[in-house]
Amino acid sequence: AKAVRLDKLLANLGYGSRREIQALARMGEIRLDGDELSDAGDRIALDPDLPERLTVEGERLDPLPGLCLMLHKPLGVTCSHKEAGPLVYGLLPERWRRREPPLSTVGRLDKETSGLLLLTDDGALLHRIISPKANVAKRYQVTLARPLNGSEAAALASGTLMLEGEDRSLLPVVMEAQDATHCAVTLTEGRYHQVRRMFAALGNHVEALHRDRVGGLDLPEDLPAGEIRILDEQAIAAIF
Ligand code: URA
Repeated sequence: AKAVRLDKLLANLGYGSRREIQALARMGEIRLDGDELSDAGDRIALDPDLPERLTVEGERLDPLPGLCLMLHKPLGVTCSHKEAGPLVYGLLPERWRRREPPLSTVGRLDKETSGLLLLTDDGALLHRIISPKANVAKRYQVTLARPLNGSEAAALASGTLMLEGEDRSLLPVVMEAQDATHCAVTLTEGRYHQVRRMFAALGNHVEALHRDRVGGLDLPEDLPAGEIRILDEQAIAAIF
């Protein structure tokens, strides 16, 4: 495994400045397999199992870079620094907001959309998920203001629906009605406010929107709004 300076590793994981980390090391607060690492200038092998072996102030090390998380995004938080309101990043553990490379959202959900949002510090993984070529399907649960009229599923499946202000039709969308005002839609594109604008184009109005699946990955029933979970390799593979 690649060797890195302990102070650089921990600084990039958000534990503090190199100086602060050196002070922790001098106080015996950094341990590998229980043994004190007293000089943070020493190099350490970047083994994948390092988080199980290295402790800082008695707590196991945060996950190494190459991290992918799912967040159950609550309503009212935004994915964009340009929008007003609290950011999704505020829901991460404080130290994780200082990581380098930083965690960023994989695509975006609207402020008023809840559900499955992925975050990663792995640029290659991010591009693999959002690339149009990857064709990763996203499923949304939709609550409508007015009853479905029975024509929507065919219009969405046709691949000819146009959104207001655009000149290229949408790729086919699969719609499954649940009752008069509830349905699920599965799409592979991710145009700006796509689901809301799709139903506007069909003469309806989206009242509530919740994403519950990305690729083959479902939002777990037991992950409450506002909570995160680290994805293991198997969960990441399920996306594709
Ligand atoms: N479509 C929308 O309109 N909003 C979202 O957040 C996601 C898809």
